[in-house]
Amino acid sequence: MTSQSATPSTEGASRAERLASLPLRHDLRGKSPYGAPQIDVPIALNTNENTHPVPQDVQDAIVAEVSRVVGTLNRYPDREFTQLRRELAEYLGHGLDQDNIWAANGSNEILQQLMQAFGGPGRRVLAFVPSYSMYPLLSAGTNTEFIPGVRAEDFTLSAESAAAQVREHRPSIVLLCSPNNPTGTALEDDVVDAVYRAGEESNTVVVVDEAYAEFSRFPERTALRLLEGRPRLVVSRTMSKAFALAGARIGYFAAAPEIADAVRLVRLPYHLSAVTQATALAALRHRTTLLADVADIRMQRDRIVDDLKRMELDPAESDSNFVFFGGGIDAPTLWQDLLDRGVLIRDVGIPGHLRVTAGTEEETTAFLDGVRAHLEDRSAAARDSETEQDPANR
Ligand code: PMP
Repeated sequence: MTSQSATPSTEGASRAERLASLPLRHDLRGKSPYGAPQIDVPIALNTNENTHPVPQDVQDAIVAEVSRVVGTLNRYPDREFTQLRRELAEYLGHGLDQDNIWAANGSNEILQQLMQAFGGPGRRVLAFVPSYSMYPLLSAGTNTEFIPGVRAEDFTLSAESAAAQVREHRPSIVLLCSPNNPTGTALEDDVVDAVYRAGEESNTVVVVDEAYAEFSRFPERTALRLLEGRPRLVVSRTMSKAFALAGARIGYFAAAPEIADAVRLVRLPYHLSAVTQATALAALRHRTTLLADVADIRMQRDRIVDDLKRMELDPAESDSNFVFFGGGIDAPTLWQDLLDRGVLIRDVGIPGHLRVTAGTEEETTAFLDGVRAHLEDRSAAARDSETEQDPANR
């Protein structure tokens, strides 16, 4: 908005004051938007993207599929994206069919639609923090109370503790992130099952957010196996990570057909564009090539864990494409030092910890070299100050 268009009463006011003068919902006042820094750096390892570019033959297939629908863009797309649901069901397996599948613009929209359908004023959503930073924001956007459930000191979550917290809070929705962002580790089946059973009485919908499932050390241990006979269980997935399509915005879930019927009540008509549907179909049909990079990313991730351990830091075991680590680091200083070396990673606001996305081999090397150099500088500085303080040297 230009200053000419500002109303006389807000002229000269700061942007925040102008925002406060609007009839913004009371529950949104003072809130901050999602804010992963978008800094232009040579090596961005801060938002858990797949840093491997889409292979050329998959790019060609996407362009061909999209160009097939361009001529029909005067019409609305298939509102039910039936072909895409069919092929997503086939990709997931586990006896699922198109009626079990729903898709949206990224799994963020999937989660938002689930919150719109099952959350809302007077209702609660429970997640076990630290977890994905969008959960409280999606709760705020849908006016659902966010309950920050607790984990053990080492960030693990036991079946007993999770179930007890569900029984205590009786939420409408539980969000289980597995593998968990930012800590990286997947949940065992018994946690999902215990949470599901604990939610029986409160009729709680249990969403397992498996955005990073394909990177798991045990990809077969997915909550998709638990869907049969559990009508309140939802497994959310995305093409943003393993499929390297974060820019295309395609997320989806698998659940009982009536869960899809519930989100049909809140979705916008034609929310999934013809271009998006075509892109997703082409990517799915070329998944063997696309998913080939997952093996390399897992290798880089394991290399980060091994090397950080060798540097006597404390990385968490990871089932995702990122590594959460601590171990006596001064997180803001290391973060800044890496940025000065052109490597952007994520300070998730947990004291003494940082999170780094596994990149290509070169990117990962740049990160590891940066950490090593930082630690060497730090020990040299400590040695110098010891020498200075030694009375023999005064
Ligand atoms: N869930 C988790 C745990 C995530 O980390 C992310 C992305 N960072 C998402 C969901 C959303 O991803 P998208 O909307 O791109 O599918």
